[in-house]
Amino acid sequence: MYWEKELEILDRKSLERLQVERLNRTLLQAVNAPGYRRIPKIAALARSGISSIEQLRELPFTTKSDLRDNFPWGFLAADKRDVVRLHSSSGTTGNPTVVYHNRHDLASWAKLMARSMFAAGVRDSDVFQNICGYGLFTGGLGFQYGAEKLGCLSIPAGAGNSLRQIKLMRDFGTSVAHAIPSYLGRLFEVFKDEGLDPRRDTQLRTLIIGAEPHTEEHRQRIEEMFGVKAYNSFGLTEMNGPGVAFECTEQNGLHIWEDAFAVEIIDPESLQPVADGEIGELVMTTLDRQAMPVIRYRTRDLTRFLPGDCQCGRSHRRIDRISGRSDDMFIVKGCNVFPMQVEGILMKLPEVGDDYRIILDTIADQDEMIVEVEVKREWFTGDLAFLDRLQRHITRLIRDEVLVRPVVSLVEPGSIPKAEGKAIRVFDRRKN
Ligand code: ADP
Ligand code: ZN
Repeated sequence: MYWEKELEILDRKSLERLQVERLNRTLLQAVNAPGYRRIPKIAALARSGISSIEQLRELPFTTKSDLRDNFPWGFLAADKRDVVRLHSSSGTTGNPTVVYHNRHDLASWAKLMARSMFAAGVRDSDVFQNICGYGLFTGGLGFQYGAEKLGCLSIPAGAGNSLRQIKLMRDFGTSVAHAIPSYLGRLFEVFKDEGLDPRRDTQLRTLIIGAEPHTEEHRQRIEEMFGVKAYNSFGLTEMNGPGVAFECTEQNGLHIWEDAFAVEIIDPESLQPVADGEIGELVMTTLDRQAMPVIRYRTRDLTRFLPGDCQCGRSHRRIDRISGRSDDMFIVKGCNVFPMQVEGILMKLPEVGDDYRIILDTIADQDEMIVEVEVKREWFTGDLAFLDRLQRHITRLIRDEVLVRPVVSLVEPGSIPKAEGKAIRVFDRRKN
């Protein structure tokens, strides 16, 4: 069952042919933007055209700082009159970047979203509640237009206000909801406070989770809490937003839509493609965007291609869940650490609640990694011997994984301050 069958199961040869054709169109469009026109290699290949997708590698990369340096209009490739919307990234790692869309671009994005949601089993009979910020953040309108295209009854609930979210879910029989994973633990706590159980007291059967890194362990927790299947949705503003890569009902990695994006995975040091199946930085080129084509964008997201074909029959390759951003990694006491390594350990422990944060600090001239961990209410009791054992257990597990001995601090549920949007996991307060 497919949404756009001919494109979703297109054989690899035809898919590549389509990519070449679309890349040539993209290059011709891109040189309308001052930011690309002045790059000789792009101008030359736009003129001569390319004949194989491998030639993509002859083009220069585009980085986040290129986009920022040319703020606000330098990468606009269309007449301003034709542009109908702009979005900007959340700015998780610095100044946000801006992306422009014309009508074609928005229609193309909505189709990708409908296709993605359909692949995760969403149908026009579903009631879809979009629990995320509307406005510049792409998760709001991105899912909204996709759900409407698919034909769901959509509830543009917006972010926060958990009591209202729960009421909407119950009043209208929400069967599918989209939210960022770090919010769902909080929502579940509110269900409990109200004496409700989402498994019993709602009709939810599917959650779509994305927009921030999370581990398989975190996904499983969410599935258990809500009694649903939770599908991973990946995207970034520079490539529209959501609808870039999505899990199908096989839940075995994310199909990345190769008719709309040319996809590479490179070694961030050598900038060469990694060997098949190795982890590297995802690099993406838009193939169906007019107002603002982006060529070989270095996403800084780390992932790998998964081997083999998917049972669902879609021919678009699958990527593994994002293990982090290359700039998420921090170095403490000479060891490289990714926050997701710590999360993977914490989320496996039943006593641990849903929130944690990592604070890097200088204590008595020494760098320390402090891991604050919320403990679930039922375990956060006066039993100090138990908490002491748990604390030592977590310290050991983290040390074995990242090779640095952390200072683990167990805290009350709900005591870690929440970010307004995506969770911020690492705070670096070191002196130098
Ligand atoms: P920002 O980069 O400011 O957060 P965006 O809102 O465009 O701006 O977010 C895109 C980024 O969010 C991606 O580059 C990636 O790092 C992260 N992201 C999005 N979806 C996922 C996902 N399913 N898993 C892990 N990370 C994700
Ligand atoms: Zn599949």
